[in-house]
Amino acid sequence: MDGVLFHGMKPIDGAVQFMDAIYDYPHVFITNNPIRTPDAVADKMEAIGFTRPNEEQIITSGEATALWLSQQKANFRYFAVGAEGLHQSLQKYGIEDKDDADFVIVGEGAGIDYDAIIIGINLILKSRAKLISTNPDSSVDDVYRGKHAVLPGGGALVAPFTIATGQQAITIGKPNPLLYEIALQSFLQQDNAHDYQFEDCLMIGDRPDTDIIGAQKLSIQTALVRTGRFAPGQKLPKHMTAPDWDVDSLKELLKCLQ
Ligand SMILES: [Mg+2]
Repeated sequence: MDGVLFHGMKPIDGAVQFMDAIYDYPHVFITNNPIRTPDAVADKMEAIGFTRPNEEQIITSGEATALWLSQQKANFRYFAVGAEGLHQSLQKYGIEDKDDADFVIVGEGAGIDYDAIIIGINLILKSRAKLISTNPDSSVDDVYRGKHAVLPGGGALVAPFTIATGQQAITIGKPNPLLYEIALQSFLQQDNAHDYQFEDCLMIGDRPDTDIIGAQKLSIQTALVRTGRFAPGQKLPKHMTAPDWDVDSLKELLKCLQ
């Protein structure tokens, strides 16, 4: 979403028109960012000029984590470290229990501290809780205390737990397949979606290393827009298969699709 539809609170030129043009096609929004709930993301989109999507169309890595865990174990018990949106998603499907958790979940955003690390690593080492990470990003660009800043991503925040326990986390967000799989499940629940497979879908993203490579692994068609991480003309990472569409913006992509 960020770098494709908007930068912070500013819609990207042509993005609102693009979404209106594809409104009748089944679509979902996926984001590695677990900080806001789907409802809060829909509110934000509406506030900056987009037609408000249904909550079910927005798959954040926090929501996908909660849904995926509920499919592994109904009424799972968990200890979570992260922002409010992650906690709200988890509360819908699981039971918070810092003494006897099945899963220790580490999300991007504020919330981590020394106590949380100690509770989490003891659950993993002594109670055999599994370590879960919402998203693998090393760092993210965002606004912090009113100024642009580089912030630690989900991958950076789970590192103390991984190092202290020697347990690798199961990671939900892009480029791993789980976020896409949860998105496809949600997609198939929409009225106008038939028995679609990954091959029938188009992933539109701004990051070759996560959005595009993750989708290519699942045979999803891909479109790279150069309004976020990559600027027009910038070379793609080596050893990467080119996306099916490589366009400067959603405005240009809309012309290709018409
Ligand atoms: Mg992005």
